[in-house]
Amino acid sequence: MIYTDTRDKTVAVDFKTAVLNGMNAESGGLYIPTSFPKIDRSYIERTPEPSFREIAFAMAKPYVEGEIPDADLESIIQDAYPFLPQIVPIEKVTYILELFHGPTCAFKDFGARFMARVMSYFNRGADDNLHILVATSGDTGSAVGSAFHNVPGIDVTILFPDGKISPLQEKQLTTFDGNVRALKVKGTFDDCQKLVKTAFTDLELRKKFRLSSANSINISRLLPQSFYYMYSSLVVKNRIPHDSKIDDASIITIVPSGNFGNLTSGLIAREMGAPIKGFVAATNANHTVPDWIATGDYRARESQATLSNAMDVGAPSNYERIISMYSLEQVRQLFASYWTDDAGTMDAIKKCNSKTGYIIDPHGAIGWKAWYDMRNGDMEKLIGGFKGDIDKPGLTPSIPSWAGDVVQGKAVGIVLETAHPSKFGATVQEAVGRSPSMPSSLERVMRLKDNSIPMTKDYESFKSWLVENL
Ligand SMILES: *Cc1c(COP(=O)(O)O)cnc(C)c1O
Repeated sequence: MIYTDTRDKTVAVDFKTAVLNGMNAESGGLYIPTSFPKIDRSYIERTPEPSFREIAFAMAKPYVEGEIPDADLESIIQDAYPFLPQIVPIEKVTYILELFHGPTCAFKDFGARFMARVMSYFNRGADDNLHILVATSGDTGSAVGSAFHNVPGIDVTILFPDGKISPLQEKQLTTFDGNVRALKVKGTFDDCQKLVKTAFTDLELRKKFRLSSANSINISRLLPQSFYYMYSSLVVKNRIPHDSKIDDASIITIVPSGNFGNLTSGLIAREMGAPIKGFVAATNANHTVPDWIATGDYRARESQATLSNAMDVGAPSNYERIISMYSLEQVRQLFASYWTDDAGTMDAIKKCNSKTGYIIDPHGAIGWKAWYDMRNGDMEKLIGGFKGDIDKPGLTPSIPSWAGDVVQGKAVGIVLETAHPSKFGATVQEAVGRSPSMPSSLERVMRLKDNSIPMTKDYESFKSWLVENL
């Protein structure tokens, strides 16, 4: 596969270069495959559907062809995924796609574990270390730290915004030792992301060290996230005749979004043939993308702290990939969008629990509420000409091609549950009156020592730290 760049279409690199560079230092753009090959129809039409790992292999193969032989790809996938996505029906037309069964209990394990194994594959035999820099708004750091911990030849530096992530998230990313360390930055997630991006475009630094990224800007994190979109849409397609019995139902995937890496992976799965009719981009008060869809005017802004902190992104990196794949008009046909504030998030957790019995985390809750409101009058109002107000929480006034299917009860939703609710135990407890039980992997981490290093958001101090410590 040849990879090009969102800013410079004359760029043509192989998978290894795209993975190890992370982003293109010269243009500042992001790597993107030049095509999204359709997977064989026999996978899509098979009942029962192929296994998750079988799908993962078939989807990854064209992107690594000629660079990773089949047998090695097979072991990368087996080793990356000892856990699986789980699909839980909670209402007649609603499935929760639980993506939190990996070691750090959030969906980022899917991308990070594949990426770590691919990087270590490409780094075999090299004599100097590869340095991974990663900015996190919550769950990326721990997923990346956990995926790379003790991988020989690779060092990881995690940057996180001081005081803006949950105490448990902080424990999860500050308690590594050896090759993984965490910098506690006085600033926002966007400041952390800027430090990382500046380091990557700093040619002096790049001459000294082999740097690579592990954010959702890295293509080797984005591609594997497409596996569970394909898998879940095939599972749901096969279940519809037994569950809701809707003929020819449209499958809509609802994605709680921050940096829009997860949603971009969904777009890749759809391009490759996943039977997904449309997407809902669900955000918190950081509603840069919903506003863009409504007005056509893209305005990145400062991020605001919310209860769904892993989505606190005011300038989502993957916007650049989305607009390199689609025109605004195509995005409007494909996407509905929705945002809510903290009060709406609390209400969503509570309502999801009272209507369905399911305990959902603050990120997934926004997705569930988007789907709920859309089916219960809000999409119908838009179709009827309601103008809406983009500054108020709710469904964005923009009508996708599949809106009528939702109104006529001909659509089924897959809501991505991106983290285990116990990672946000206090919020969930306040909303539903009891705290979700904690997986043992999370209980263990709470007892470990915090090894984080304080850092300012000033680039020069960050750079000197890197020069002295890498
Ligand atoms: C990272 C994260 C998100 C946002 O995903 P993006 O790919 O950045 O859009 C949503 N929920 C949780 C729990 C996350 O960790």
